[in-house]
Amino acid sequence: MYSKEITKSLKEKGISIGDLVKIEYDNVSMEGELMPKTETGSPETVIIKLKSGYNIGISFDKVRLTKIADSHGPVKFPSAKLAQDKELPKITLLFTGGTIGSKVDYKTGGVHPLIKPEELFYDVPELSKIARVDVKNPFSIFSEDMSHKEWARIAEEVAKELDNGARGVVVAMGTDTMHYAAAALSFMLENLNAPVVITGAQRSSDRGSSDAFMNLICAVQIAAKSDIAEVGICMHSSSSDDSCHFLRGTKARKMHSTRRDAFRPINSIPIAKITHDGKLDYIGQYKKIGNGKVKTKNGYDSSVALIKAYPGSDPGLIDFHVSAGCKGIIIEGTGLGHAPISPSDENKSWAGHIEKAVKKGVVVGMTSQTLYGRVNPNVYSTARKIASLGVVYCEDMTPETALVKLGWLLGNYDKKTAEELLGKNIAGEISQRNELNEFLV
Ligand code: GLU
Repeated sequence: MYSKEITKSLKEKGISIGDLVKIEYDNVSMEGELMPKTETGSPETVIIKLKSGYNIGISFDKVRLTKIADSHGPVKFPSAKLAQDKELPKITLLFTGGTIGSKVDYKTGGVHPLIKPEELFYDVPELSKIARVDVKNPFSIFSEDMSHKEWARIAEEVAKELDNGARGVVVAMGTDTMHYAAAALSFMLENLNAPVVITGAQRSSDRGSSDAFMNLICAVQIAAKSDIAEVGICMHSSSSDDSCHFLRGTKARKMHSTRRDAFRPINSIPIAKITHDGKLDYIGQYKKIGNGKVKTKNGYDSSVALIKAYPGSDPGLIDFHVSAGCKGIIIEGTGLGHAPISPSDENKSWAGHIEKAVKKGVVVGMTSQTLYGRVNPNVYSTARKIASLGVVYCEDMTPETALVKLGWLLGNYDKKTAEELLGKNIAGEISQRNELNEFLV
């Protein structure tokens, strides 16, 4: 609730929550919807949702507030069933939650996973001209709440749908941890012989600037038309609304918290570019659809950890994880794959702690927090020393892909094999040294 004074003033002006209002202060004038006080916000700060979809908070005593129009209430999308044209390829949309299936809750001003998947179709009738889309909704959660259990469940569902005749599968999910899920599915779906296209949205579908619809259309285009037999992420290629990239599942990462083109290829180039009207340009190399039947390999040992080495960092972190039963640790090192080993405070040296972990049988991998580029144990004495302790240098894998890979390896192989395979390419996670990165900025 806003303060008594604000509540009284709003009442006098006939303004209710959700109404379209004009706010003026100094020389600035803006329009937006009056939102309720946020749970943690000050009762003296009014919250306005601007047309861009962003909320701003302004001290009530600093602004003049006038009503423009009554509230239109929460945006409602009628559900729509897609027409099923028998001539078109059959694809499955596995809807698992996230912003792509969310809308603003006008009671709290927050974004909640409220809509049913069918409600998305109302605004994308184009889908019925691209494919026969069958929607399945195994669960609806935000991606930060996902773990290897949900990734395995998705892998099972994908395999089932492909076995039942789907030409491709689109997985709609939250974007925050999409790159972890994409890496996990890339490892879990062995002998994949169809496109598995992961998509989502940075902005919910009731916002004018939503990217949900184009991402969904482009993802369905890839699943229905491409000859790519890989797991990948299909999201906006730029901040404008004209095309999406299909990025290899093990080589992509969310690189911005809000931009529509947040997903970037790391140490790789996109596999393809796709427009919503179906113009498909292949850019990078990829595995083509051929023969074979997908098989799931879903084992996962979640006793793995990702830890960051930084100046002055406490190597006791390693001991903590080892004593908590961790069987694998990925270090996000600095530069070419370094951690402090000769700091002035010798208690802060990581060397002895790494050595102890390796001796205890923990698989330790090294990646770089630079993300772009490759770790290399042969340049500086620091990395030479760390590698000599038995740490596997993970080439140009992202730290997140290395973490997921290690969990997957330890869940499916014995420790020795897992250690051997960590530094070897399995699902496109390690690229050739001579691959160009002209897409990177
Ligand atoms: N944090 C939520 C998630 O990852 C919503 C963000 C999004 O979907 O982009 O599921």
